[in-house]
Amino acid sequence: MNEVRVRFAPSPTGALHIGGVRTVLYNYLFARKNNGKMILRIEDTDRTRFVEGAEKYITESLSWLGIELDESPEKGGAYGPYRQSERSDLYAKYAQKLIDEGNAYYAFDTAEELDAMRERLKAAKVATPQYNAITRAQMKNSLTMPEEEVKQRIESGEPYVIRLKVPLKEEVRLNDMVRGWVMVHSAAAIDDKVLMKSDGMPTYHLANVVDDHYMKITHVIRGEEWLPSAPLHVLLYKFLGWEDSMPQFAHLPLLLKPDGNGKLSKRDGDKHGFPVFPIEGTFPGKDGNPEKFNGFREAGYLPDALINFLAFLGWNPGTEQELFSIDELIEAFSIERIGKAGAKFDIEKARWFNQQYIKSKSGEALATYLKSDLDAAGVDYNDEKLPKVCNALKERVTYPADFWLDGKFFFQQPENYDEKVVNKKWTEEAIMILDAYKDALSNMDSIDAETAKSTLNNILEEKGVKIGRVMQAVRLAITGQGSGPDLMEIIEILEPKEVVARIEKAIKTLPAKQEQ
Ligand code: GLU
Repeated sequence: MNEVRVRFAPSPTGALHIGGVRTVLYNYLFARKNNGKMILRIEDTDRTRFVEGAEKYITESLSWLGIELDESPEKGGAYGPYRQSERSDLYAKYAQKLIDEGNAYYAFDTAEELDAMRERLKAAKVATPQYNAITRAQMKNSLTMPEEEVKQRIESGEPYVIRLKVPLKEEVRLNDMVRGWVMVHSAAAIDDKVLMKSDGMPTYHLANVVDDHYMKITHVIRGEEWLPSAPLHVLLYKFLGWEDSMPQFAHLPLLLKPDGNGKLSKRDGDKHGFPVFPIEGTFPGKDGNPEKFNGFREAGYLPDALINFLAFLGWNPGTEQELFSIDELIEAFSIERIGKAGAKFDIEKARWFNQQYIKSKSGEALATYLKSDLDAAGVDYNDEKLPKVCNALKERVTYPADFWLDGKFFFQQPENYDEKVVNKKWTEEAIMILDAYKDALSNMDSIDAETAKSTLNNILEEKGVKIGRVMQAVRLAITGQGSGPDLMEIIEILEPKEVVARIEKAIKTLPAKQEQ
């Protein structure tokens, strides 16, 4: 078998939607699984939709995710250039070939004439008014005009497009790796698509097919929205004489809104407060004004967690296992296990994956996040403690920013005390125990969690108090909160001197409540 070569072929029209990230991921997994090549091709022939900075946004997103490219505009490769705008001559050549062999034609219709045609068809109750095998006979093109006139119009510089001449009756078939056989009747399903625009640039269809052929792409793995274009592409392969080396197609299922009703959109993200883009960016919105948007990176998702989450949106390993490193995904991935049904974008699941990945990291690795938040907040800290703080908290956090947000008490004395806990648990009895505990700690320089616990237990035993009656008050005095990570670990990290100071402060600040 030929070397597997797949491509991700985004159009640089704005930010890369999270669905596009899923597409590039599946291509990448498939390439690596088969020891093949992963190619990035920028499909920038539609100059009206071109957005400055979009290509950079795409490559930055991929590098954040750790998706390595074998060939790309930046990296180059044997089949470049990898930006379609730099390959115009090639498309012109094949448009000409299609014309010469009677599979394409020149069309001179103006925008007004095209509108008039559509209106006419609508009035005649034609369901989908199209320029096609039937209507082209009434239009201004090289099929209806004398050859001389066509020549003269072109020579005089009149604008024209080149359209595909779709046969009236022909079955077009393709065997999609996800959907199985897809069959359409040519003229009913395919209109005479423009292949070359009046600005001399190819449309997506022609450029895409020519490039997939020239770049020796073996598998086209892309979103379901391209499925309706696939029969047209098959026709092009046939007309260009490349049928034998046509890539195999795999159209990926849609990403659906969290409730499963319809396609996931940017608005769903705005509405529910989750990102639908990999990294933050600013691009022109619908009204042309710059629009800033948040990314998964900035929201605190780890790249490997996001990858794991996305891998499951449309694919499953056929086992119960959910946590997969990228290498395990590569090992397990197969197109056969991609489903046809749309995949619900369940952000709760993304959060869960993030938690799992944070949990699995070492305190040392997590400390880098905490350190930068502490620096940003201008808080003093002892470097050595950071991994311990992260280890104490990591079972409970969802995002790296939570280490600072949920762990402030490791670095600052409580300013406030949880009102509810004060009202319920700050009793004379608790104060008495805390007072004794403070005394016991006051002559120690350091303490480990175990000693912190046995010291407290000894006091409780001596005073005949059950631990459950005072535990929350002890926590409250030290952290200001009624719950949190293991208190004895907190005491170990804070060290006796600080704990004593906090207990003293709490006793001074908080008036005792009546025994309950
Ligand atoms: N340029 C198309 C896009 O923006 C590529 C579709 C394909 O992969 O063929 O998605």
